Amino acid sequence: MDYGISEEFTQLQKLTRDFVEKELRPHEEAVERSDHLPAELRAQLRKKALEVGLYGYNMPEEVGGPGLTWFAQVLIREQLGRIAIALADMVGRPPKAFLSCQGAQRERFLMPVLRAEKTWAFALTEPGAGSDAASIKTRATRSDGGWRLNGTKHFISHGDFADLVIVIAKTADDNLPLALIVEHDTPGFKLGRIHPKMGWRGYPVAELLFEDAFVPEAHVLGNPGQGLRIGLSQIGEARIGVAAHCVGMAQRALDYVLEHVKVRRQFGQPLGKFQGLQWMLADMALEIEQSRALLYAAARSMDSIGESNARTVISMAKLSASEMLGRVADRAVQIMGGAGYMAESPIEMIYRDARAFRIGEGTSEIQKSQIARAILGKDMFI
Ligand SMILES: Cc1cc2nc3c(=O)[nH]c(=O)nc-3n(C[C@H](O)[C@H](O)[C@H](O)COP(=O)(O)OP(=O)(O)OC[C@H]3O[C@@H](n4cnc5c(N)ncnc54)[C@H](O)[C@@H]3O)c2cc1C
Repeated sequence: MDYGISEEFTQLQKLTRDFVEKELRPHEEAVERSDHLPAELRAQLRKKALEVGLYGYNMPEEVGGPGLTWFAQVLIREQLGRIAIALADMVGRPPKAFLSCQGAQRERFLMPVLRAEKTWAFALTEPGAGSDAASIKTRATRSDGGWRLNGTKHFISHGDFADLVIVIAKTADDNLPLALIVEHDTPGFKLGRIHPKMGWRGYPVAELLFEDAFVPEAHVLGNPGQGLRIGLSQIGEARIGVAAHCVGMAQRALDYVLEHVKVRRQFGQPLGKFQGLQWMLADMALEIEQSRALLYAAARSMDSIGESNARTVISMAKLSASEMLGRVADRAVQIMGGAGYMAESPIEMIYRDARAFRIGEGTSEIQKSQIARAILGKDMFI
């Protein structure tokens, strides 16, 4: 399919693909087996991603980033979908919330993040507040020179080791959303449990406890009332990123089984000669291309009409690609037979890892609600 990708962007795709194969691929099996990506290796890989110019590829020029178009970012992320999520994540994409850093906050938080010296987590979800993010219960109470934070966050990616955690809370007095940066060693900030989970090995997801944790005023992003807006300023990027990642993962699964069916023989012929499997492969290729076409159209819409005006097509792309990946991964396991169920090929990992993408960054049902709202009009919604 010719998507009219410029030579410059083709080079960017190649750079990312080479980085994946050369720097990340050698570690994939060990991370999968051990469910662990050692801190030292994480630091090394982040540094390498910085050196090749991929780290912080989502950042605008005004803070020293490359200022790439959305389309270019999507092409990069699609290639990152071809490696285990824990490793893909070493090509860091700092949350846009850091761009709300003002004055001294820039040197203290933003710059070390951009230099890959400090890592982050983003803590919005709580045991009682998932899809309904506005119902969070974590409270920030004014205290001399800052805020006292109380509450529990859960399902927080890298919450166990992140140097900086962007926490979205509500002010105790007037219930206004507030975004604060909490440092790892803040007294009263404790690590709860690390959630055992289905896939995403080597990518810890943690519970975070705040018990009267003191956060200085200088760590507040924006003003009270802006917390959710700041926190969710990356939602379009996050959703289109998931869509791109899913397309890359699905393509990897298809590429893998295409090789397998040419080599594996049953009943005296390669599996690829069985029409039943050929039709499954054709469906996989078709569905991947449909999701990719929508993904690229969404990214180009973001470039032409702006991210906030393209929210509906972003939701469509995320919904399409994450659901598609589930179907493609399932067929890939089936085509591989027993070998698809064994953890000796990437297909078993892809099957497990795919599942989370229909949940994170807005579930499939939330994407459908967004799309329905856009086509029906707000009057049909409370
Ligand atoms: C691997 C992983 C990493 C994550 N990392 C982070 C992180 O770093 N930071 C963070 O803050 N969060 C993180 N999350 C949390 C994630 O954002 C939430 O899981 C997600 O928003 C869904 O919330 P929930 O799990 O509470 O499900 P719920 O909101 O309880 O939803 C349960 C079910 O109800 C459905 N539902 C809910 N509301 C509606 C509605 N209005 N209409 C129709 N159906 C509805 C949902 O679609 C879903 O099927 C992560 C999650 C995962 C799986």
